[in-house]
Amino acid sequence: MPTSEPDRVPGHQAARLAVVDPATGEIFDEAPDQRPDDVDAVVDRAHRAWHGWRADPAARTTALQAAADAVEAADDDLARLLTREQGKPLAESYAEVARTAARLRYFADLTPRTRRITDGRPVHSEIRWRPLGPVAAIVPWNFPLQLAAAKFAPALAAGNTMVLKPSPFTPLATRLLGSVLATALPDDVLTVVTGREPLGARLASHPGFRHVTFTGSVPTGRAVAEASAASLARVTLELGGNDAAVLLDDVEVDRIADRLFWAAFRNCGQVCMAVKRVYVPARLHAEVVEALAQRAKTVAVGSGLDAETRLGPVNNAPQLARVEQVTKQALADGARAAAGGHRLDGPGYFFAPTILTSVPPSSPVVTEEQFGPVLPVLPYRSLDEAVDAANGTGFGLGGSVWATDLDRAEAVADRLECGTAWINHHGELSLAQPFAGVKNSGVGVAGGPWGLYGNLRPFVVHRPQEA
Ligand code: NAD
Repeated sequence: MPTSEPDRVPGHQAARLAVVDPATGEIFDEAPDQRPDDVDAVVDRAHRAWHGWRADPAARTTALQAAADAVEAADDDLARLLTREQGKPLAESYAEVARTAARLRYFADLTPRTRRITDGRPVHSEIRWRPLGPVAAIVPWNFPLQLAAAKFAPALAAGNTMVLKPSPFTPLATRLLGSVLATALPDDVLTVVTGREPLGARLASHPGFRHVTFTGSVPTGRAVAEASAASLARVTLELGGNDAAVLLDDVEVDRIADRLFWAAFRNCGQVCMAVKRVYVPARLHAEVVEALAQRAKTVAVGSGLDAETRLGPVNNAPQLARVEQVTKQALADGARAAAGGHRLDGPGYFFAPTILTSVPPSSPVVTEEQFGPVLPVLPYRSLDEAVDAANGTGFGLGGSVWATDLDRAEAVADRLECGTAWINHHGELSLAQPFAGVKNSGVGVAGGPWGLYGNLRPFVVHRPQEA
């Protein structure tokens, strides 16, 4: 689901990128619109910085801990800017800044394990871990800071340097984060570049990188994999999702409705592992639709800077058009809106929180990733039918099962074809767990020690056993 990109600042001579506040639809600031030619010099500096950064693991730990402190100290400025350009409620921006610092701390203390293998021969092999070199990171606009941290914290902890490109819709908080981190890290260990395409394409194809790590949509992920094939750099792809929530027949709707609603609508539905489809036993369907619709109709929608707002705007105009288009298509296909179903009047990119019922399973709002505040609720008659439908798309990021009998729920969760399955909640991740999608949802593993090893290569020394 790649989106067309923002404009140059009107009337501006130098290359600048216009940044829009999605709550007003107005340009409020600008960022450098760097060109692909700028990348060579940045990569050169990242290479030079790598030699010092890789040499001293203890100094890295200290620097990354100091970086986490610096992020926490700057949380007011970071959170406000994040809300301004991304749209999410301020409390969620503070939480995102806190998660950014937490990830730095987690990886600062993580070291790879050297292993010695003896297999009866008069030699032993020692397996050590070496950094890869400069890493290119490309991230989307839904969680600019925490997704960037998911890239730079393990990569830098492993001894690599990084060039990081945020989405052109959300360049500002990441640029500020780069300046904050620069107070704790040596020069050129982490460089933030901003601009429109083909800047990302140039990063993906540049021969100076040994790892290209990308988070975004499936089509762009494919383009990144193709571009990086030229240099045979390692590729990590964290791509889109179309997560299903399967409710079982013993579920207590009142107890789970709030959690289910927020698992779908947090960050205005712009979460890779949001609940994007709900499968409900036919007997409970009307009750679940009613519980979700009641919440959708009453949730406080508005600017993320207003204290009472729980749901902000969609981040950008092309994404708003996409959400509107899949919703209109569903309604044309015979769906009914139990809540919402339309854009909200007035300025800004607001879409009414929408609950869809009577949706044909072939409608794009079910088969594709809507990535917005729209949720189809589909009835099922047999559990096998529900599991087949949950597994029946090209995506495989996450999934969840909601029930009172946890053992039965776990048995159903075990049948979901995805990287993470939750029971009675959806979307929470531990820093220490692996995070990986299957099918079109990703290549490679992030998170926990797996994320660290994803930024390292094994180096093996064979030597004779002591006489
Ligand atoms: P996108 O694919 O349009 O853009 C992602 C990034 O790639 C942006 O920085 C963009 O500027 C850049 N880009 C665009 N064209 C490029 C090219 N040819 N080569 C290199 N880079 C290029 O995605 P988006 O609309 O910004 O983000 C939403 C998508 O991200 C959704 O599909 C969502 O599910 C996915 N996502 C996945 C995860 C995950 O962890 N699996 C997390 C968050 C978001």
